[in-house]
Amino acid sequence: MTVSEVRKRYLEFFKKRGHTIIPSAPIVPGNDPTTLFTSSGMQPLVPYLLGKDHPEGNRLTNSQMSFRAGDIEEVGDNRHTTFFEMLGNWSLGDYFKKEQLPWIFEFLTDPAQGLGFDPAKLYVTVFDGDESAGMELDTESVEIWKQLFKEKGIGAELVRLGTEEEGYEKGSQGGRIFAYGSKKNWWSRSGVPSNMPAGEPGGPDSEIFYDFGTPHDPKWGANCHVNCDCGRFVEICNSVFMQYVKDPDSSFSELPKKNVDFGGGLERLTATTLQESDVFLIDVFDSARNVLEAKTGKRYGSDEQVTRSFRIILDHIRAASFMLAESVVPSNTEAGYVLRRLIRRSIREADRLGVTETLLPEVAASFSEVYAEQYPHILEAADKIREELQKEEEKFRKTLSQGLREFEKLLSKHEVSPDDAFILFTSYGFPVEMTEELAKERGITLDMNAVATKMKEHQDTSRAGGAQRFAGGLADHSEQTVRYHTSHHILLKALQIVLGDEVKQRGSNITAERLRIDFSHGAKMTDEQKAKVEEIANEVIYQDLPVTRTVMPRTEAEKLGAQMEFGVKYPDMVSVYSVGPIHATEENPDIPNAFSLEFCGGPHVKNTSEIHEGGKRFKIQKEEAVAAGVRRIKAVLV
Ligand SMILES: [Zn+2]
Ligand SMILES: [Zn+2]
Repeated sequence: MTVSEVRKRYLEFFKKRGHTIIPSAPIVPGNDPTTLFTSSGMQPLVPYLLGKDHPEGNRLTNSQMSFRAGDIEEVGDNRHTTFFEMLGNWSLGDYFKKEQLPWIFEFLTDPAQGLGFDPAKLYVTVFDGDESAGMELDTESVEIWKQLFKEKGIGAELVRLGTEEEGYEKGSQGGRIFAYGSKKNWWSRSGVPSNMPAGEPGGPDSEIFYDFGTPHDPKWGANCHVNCDCGRFVEICNSVFMQYVKDPDSSFSELPKKNVDFGGGLERLTATTLQESDVFLIDVFDSARNVLEAKTGKRYGSDEQVTRSFRIILDHIRAASFMLAESVVPSNTEAGYVLRRLIRRSIREADRLGVTETLLPEVAASFSEVYAEQYPHILEAADKIREELQKEEEKFRKTLSQGLREFEKLLSKHEVSPDDAFILFTSYGFPVEMTEELAKERGITLDMNAVATKMKEHQDTSRAGGAQRFAGGLADHSEQTVRYHTSHHILLKALQIVLGDEVKQRGSNITAERLRIDFSHGAKMTDEQKAKVEEIANEVIYQDLPVTRTVMPRTEAEKLGAQMEFGVKYPDMVSVYSVGPIHATEENPDIPNAFSLEFCGGPHVKNTSEIHEGGKRFKIQKEEAVAAGVRRIKAVLV
């Protein structure tokens, strides 16, 4: 099957079972100051899983564009990608295990409505309990699985493994249902039960693995098992059951409203329908792979290193295309930095494949076409994506040749040392492998272990920074951040009043220290324009206007002129925030409307008086260009 076919079948399957199909949130969440990327289908739904009412009801399904920056270094094998789509279905206090597990089993095995997998190839895991938390084996899931396999005439023995390590030793032979402890089969935002603060929900999960039947490679251990790295078993999906809440005395109670969160990798599921464990062989990569084969004269699969380089370019340029389509531009900070890394890593792999001319724009063009139907914004942005990649590739190729010159300069003074290799990398982005190659040509042996140690130290520090950013999850809804969020809405409207209605938001980032907005506008703002914008914003803030959330049909919100986020498809019912009361209606469009109206999930202040508390005033700190036709403002409340 194709990716589109699998996506369509899944959404239809759950629609038939009472679910509303909701659109994908952007991969760069504009309204969430605490995280750079959307990394799962669950992430945008966390407020609803924690109890907020969802405007589309309590059975939801979608295919969510997702990006995991932490997986960049893993890309190159047959299954890791940074960008992927996650199929998801959710029950918000509605159905639970006895519906979810049979449905997903039916979807995977039914050839007419689902994917038609051979049930004998499926293996599942369940939660084995956690003694320290007073939790027992998830017998409810075990019984459901036994019954489901029995109906297919398949014996399903339960093997209790407890820890991951025990699982590694015992192997998978003879079992069908594997019970693992809380490190493996427990979900909460803080990890295992003992790490959870009082009041936090969590619960067991149940994964499904597909057995590709490839021979086990003993380099990964004596016995094969579902979590073995040899690639024989591939995890295709997971159902999380939010069942418990932690009490102040550290025991657990059943939640009154239990949720289901299901996630399945669209690409992996598609590859599985083709009996392929290699996700890079699914249709969405076909034309980009052909471009690479034509440009390099090398064949995918012909040699391990070539295949690895192909995979890195395919994954990274697909991810880069989706980011560029959401107006992220290569830079040295935040999402722009990750984008730059993706592009530069791809260029190094292109070099390794022997391509020295510009390659990436053409690879990206194939993705814009492949995804045009599901994600029209990527086709709309096709020209911009190509231009940005062209610019960045040219720039980096210049950097590489500059690094080469520096290398020669160093060499004329002394032998190249591990320190030099490290400096060439950090200051010029010059790959260490390239320094090693070049050194070899001059008969110099570089101590690569010393280089590796230096590199690792460097990586650990940058990872620690990354981990900190993600550790907060969706938690930073501090008062100051919320004030900046509401000010952000007011600023956008003020910009439209001063510069014209064509001004649209192209990106945003809000912290407790400041707000930042990227918006479409062709020219540098004059001092008078900036002063006018500040004046309007302060006037509105000091009018002490109420800020209200209304759930309304999308069509009505559109007619009222509510601002949308670029590149986002909205559901039929939307959440709209207004600064000042909404007066205008479809029948009476002439009555003055709220000052600002935006499609937004919040949170916001209740009244703009909260923004000026203590006599604070809105001030533009900086106005600058970030890309052709896109300006950026940083503003503060002082
Ligand atoms: Zn194995
Ligand atoms: Zn907002």
